[in-house]
Formats: sequence, structure tokens, C-alpha cells
Amino acid sequence: MAPDRTAGSGAGAEPYVPSSRSLKTLSTAAEECQGCELYRNATQTVFGSGSRQARILLLGEQPGDQEDREGLPFIGPAGRVLDRALARVGIEEPDVYRTNAVKHFRWKPAPGGGKRRIHQPPTQEQISACRPWLLAELDAVRPDVIVVLGGSAGKSLFGSAFRVGEARGTVRTWSGIHVVVTIHPSAVLRADDREGAFEGFVADLRTAAEVMK
Ligand code: SF4
Repeated sequence: MAPDRTAGSGAGAEPYVPSSRSLKTLSTAAEECQGCELYRNATQTVFGSGSRQARILLLGEQPGDQEDREGLPFIGPAGRVLDRALARVGIEEPDVYRTNAVKHFRWKPAPGGGKRRIHQPPTQEQISACRPWLLAELDAVRPDVIVVLGGSAGKSLFGSAFRVGEARGTVRTWSGIHVVVTIHPSAVLRADDREGAFEGFVADLRTAAEVMK
């Protein structure tokens, strides 16, 4: 079926997702997605990154400012927190696939003008619109464990009622895959007690590492 290219029609990503489960094919197809309005103000689609053989899939919210400019997930400040935490628990690169619930950056201009772009969380509608890309990635990678990094990621898998606070620290399943829930690494950067928040984040990733074994 030809994609519905009535720009940002709200039809969702489904018409753009090819049947192939090659990550390269999926990533290339996602560059053309107009399944919701978010492509309009973003620089580019930021698809997932990592090996098809990865055993752990890290699921964030959406690309940030730097990711939007460079086209790769988790390369900004939050990504560096994530990398530091992964190193602490001994989760190594070939085992990791990084992606987001939403593949385009949602932002608004900073008040008073200027070039700064302020992150805006995606709506449930936008999360749902983008979900077919995540389902295709999960189908391609078939990880042993998904780490849900924050509320938007959880809503993509479990629906709008999902709350991190209620789910954190538990190991649940989604379609037969283990799921560990934690905060988004950007929350570590915003915390008053950054060191404490980081240690809690590391503890959750350690749970994921244990589930992987
Ligand atoms: S956010 Fe997702 S559904 Fe919306 S245009 Fe981008 S890739 Fe498509």
C-alpha cells in the first residue's frame, strides 16, 4: 500500500513501515515518515542504533536537541549519563540497541526569541502514531530485555495509564520479553541529588543486566 502522504494526517506511521525487518531498511524508510506532525519542525528522523544481535533494548522518549541535529539517539548529555551507568554495570556495546518511543524531536522556541529549542514531551497521540516503528525494531532485534527509560517509553509499551513510580523496580513482561522500568537519564541531570539519582539508575540497570544472564 502506498503511504498516505497527506502531511501529518495523523494516520500514524503504519503505512510507512516496510515488511522487511532489516534495521537498515527500516531506518531508511523511517526517513520518509510523516505519520504525525512532528516531522515538520524536526531536522531529521532519529531511528534506533545498535546491533540486531543486541540482548538489551534501551527505550527512551524522543531525540533531544543534539540527537535531532546529528541523527543518532542518546548522544547528548542524557546519553552520556546512560553510557556511564552502562559501563558501571558492565553492559557492553554489542549487547545494546538504543532507541526512542518517538523518532522526531518535539520542541518549542525559547521564550523571548533566540535559537534555543525547549524540549516538549510527546503527546499520547504522537507516541501511538510512532509505535509501529518501535514494534518493527522490537521484531527485528528481539532482545532478552527492554529497559524502559521514563514515562513516555512506558506509555508506548503499556498504554497511557503507565506510571514510572508504580512500575520502577519490578521486572514485568511485554510480549514474552522481560521489561525493567527506570527513570530517563535526563531525570538524573535534573535531580537535586544527582549522585543519589545516578546510583538508583545504576541499580535499575544492574537488575536489567541480571535478567539478561
Ligand atoms: S514522530 Fe514518528 S510517526 Fe511522527 S512523523 Fe516522526 S517517525 Fe513518523
